[in-house]
Amino acid sequence: MALPVAEWRGRTARLWAALDSALRERLAAASLHDAVRLGCDLLRTKEEEEAALVQLCHRAATDKKPEAASRYREQGNQEFKQGHYQAALRLYSKAASHELPGSPELSVCFANRSAALLHLGHFEVCLEDIARAESHGYPDRLLPKVLLRKAECLLRLGRLQDAQESLRVLESKFALDGVMTTNLARLKKLSQLKVKLGEKERCPEPAQEAHGGIQGEPEIWEENNRISGASSSLSLGFDAERGRHLLASQDIVPGQSLVKEEAFVSVLCPGESLPLQDGDTAWDTRATNADLYCHRCLRQLLASVPCQGCSYAKYCSQDCADVAWQQYHRTECSLGALLLTLGVFCHVALRTVLLAGFAEVSRLVAWSHRGDKSLQCPEASCKPLGEAADAGAGSRGVPGCDSSGQYQSSYQALFHLLPHTEQHSPEHKFLCSLSVVAICKQLQAAGLEAAVLSQESPQQWSKPKPCENTSGELSPELKTVAEAMLRHVLQLQCNAQAITVMQELGPHWCRMRVAERQQLLSQYFFNCRCPACLEELESGVKSVVSIRNSFCCPKCQAQMQGEEDTLCCSNEACATSASRDHLSGRLQDLQQQIKKGLGMLRVGKADQAIKMLLKCQMDAGTFLSPEHLLMGEMEDHLAQVYATLGKWQEAARHLKKSIEIVEMHHGPSSVETGHELFKLAQILFNGFAVSEALSTIQRAEGILSVHFGPQNAQIQELQEMKACLSELPINILQRT
Ligand SMILES: [Zn+2]
Ligand SMILES: [Zn+2]
Ligand SMILES: [Zn+2]
Ligand SMILES: [Zn+2]
Repeated sequence: MALPVAEWRGRTARLWAALDSALRERLAAASLHDAVRLGCDLLRTKEEEEAALVQLCHRAATDKKPEAASRYREQGNQEFKQGHYQAALRLYSKAASHELPGSPELSVCFANRSAALLHLGHFEVCLEDIARAESHGYPDRLLPKVLLRKAECLLRLGRLQDAQESLRVLESKFALDGVMTTNLARLKKLSQLKVKLGEKERCPEPAQEAHGGIQGEPEIWEENNRISGASSSLSLGFDAERGRHLLASQDIVPGQSLVKEEAFVSVLCPGESLPLQDGDTAWDTRATNADLYCHRCLRQLLASVPCQGCSYAKYCSQDCADVAWQQYHRTECSLGALLLTLGVFCHVALRTVLLAGFAEVSRLVAWSHRGDKSLQCPEASCKPLGEAADAGAGSRGVPGCDSSGQYQSSYQALFHLLPHTEQHSPEHKFLCSLSVVAICKQLQAAGLEAAVLSQESPQQWSKPKPCENTSGELSPELKTVAEAMLRHVLQLQCNAQAITVMQELGPHWCRMRVAERQQLLSQYFFNCRCPACLEELESGVKSVVSIRNSFCCPKCQAQMQGEEDTLCCSNEACATSASRDHLSGRLQDLQQQIKKGLGMLRVGKADQAIKMLLKCQMDAGTFLSPEHLLMGEMEDHLAQVYATLGKWQEAARHLKKSIEIVEMHHGPSSVETGHELFKLAQILFNGFAVSEALSTIQRAEGILSVHFGPQNAQIQELQEMKACLSELPINILQRT
């Protein structure tokens, strides 16, 4: 998704392999400037590559297809009839994105969608859709239906005067049309609404209070006076290997916010739901990210506003649509399919240069050519723009900062992030060069060059002129743009944040061996030298993870050692050995038995489940280390069984043992420990162990709020428990 589609990657890889070795070497050592020039030359002589790219783009078509729209609308109507309003809403939105602006069909989509919104209780948004339907020329004969809906919405919102006004309009319309042509059901609805209006006017309901965002606890946030958007616990550093980076200058408490900076540029990840085959006629009715989130601000969409030009970009509001159009989408709109084919990194790179503006882009690209000579000398390349190196303290001399050493989010700051040109593989640089050149050629061919170079007023942009230059040679300005884009694509691997889903169990030194951790970091060309990594690397010992999850000697319970097939007892006096396969087999058997025990619990045989699990525990004690995670899991299962029997004290006893082991593996403030403490709080709560419950609730709340924030469902439940306990009569409290 970040990179171009597999077929294009394959084509460029084959092209790379077929180049003669001299050219490959030239490309491998090329600067960004030369890589773009070589890419241009290559793509000009390889017409079949360009044709292949055009072919690939058909799969990700983003133009409007009115025939698809009617399909989506029909499906939406079917869902609506069955009372599936959410599904209907989504399909009407999809339909709207394919209708041509200003067409009566588009206004019908909005009107239909407003009906779904009314049923879902979104009255304000329903009114917006009705207004959209009216402004796009809703057919006159269908108007009464929509006006009735409008009156009902206004009534539900308590806007009685407006409701009255729209009922008046409706009545006069009915009068004008004559009773014969007026639908009787609608007349009935009208009189019902008038009765309701009368009732509301006689006894107005108290106006609903506007409820703002849920207030959490005030946060400790002191902004750094040299680094905008960063906490005062940080300082800015620079070295040739890592580029500009943040360092802790004070102890940081878990959960503390460190950076609050709006992204300089963001792009909605399309997700993976593109049609699978060329010329796919079965329209995809699944919702993709483009259907679910605003193309510009990434807010969740309810009733999207489609782009006027394409079926891909959908917005939360007309405002977002207008701003996006003005800032970048007028250039991106017709390139949708190409951008989807070439991946998110290329898209981000293009949007970055569009947001920065050509003047800034060309200024910095020109500067980087002067800077190239100083690459061998890191100190020299640290110089801020237009300023001699300064021996001043703090962030002075950090590239991207201004002359006083102040960091601000800006294109200049972004431009100075390291592209790691030398570390990326030559094949990868080749792929990226060809891809950005392909985008720039498309911009030129579509007559969008002027828009990119910001030389025309927005009004003129709406009618791009076809390109006069048919030689396929990129203009010097677009070559500069391509060079900046190539830099950004290469920077993104280390500097982009993908926001997808909340990952509960992220990488952590408690869960992974050093080799796995370093592997994850290799994408960032980064060798970690933190204490945990250094200790594990230098001592050559197995990680704590593997020690804790090891087998123990069946005779003396000491740890079993060895990397080979035969394991030996670490107690030299004992000298027992055992085959690894044998022990692994026992472990598998044990896991099977535990599963059986849980199965018994599910069918209500709690007593048998307890027997089974206790037997498993005995067995495990003879060959697993007492700290083995499975030992903890068995305690957790036992706690669960006792809890179903209402034996809270027993349950709590087992859960506490489980917590000990979980803490040992994952740390006392880990998510895992948080979840276990949550369970313990529930059990203590149910068992009326009030004071212990309160302290456990507090600990669980502290840990879980760091990981999930105050809105988390478990935290809400903990707070309810706390409130409930604090309302208990004092005599119960004293008994515990
Ligand atoms: Zn938006
Ligand atoms: Zn568009
Ligand atoms: Zn590390
Ligand atoms: Zn032994």
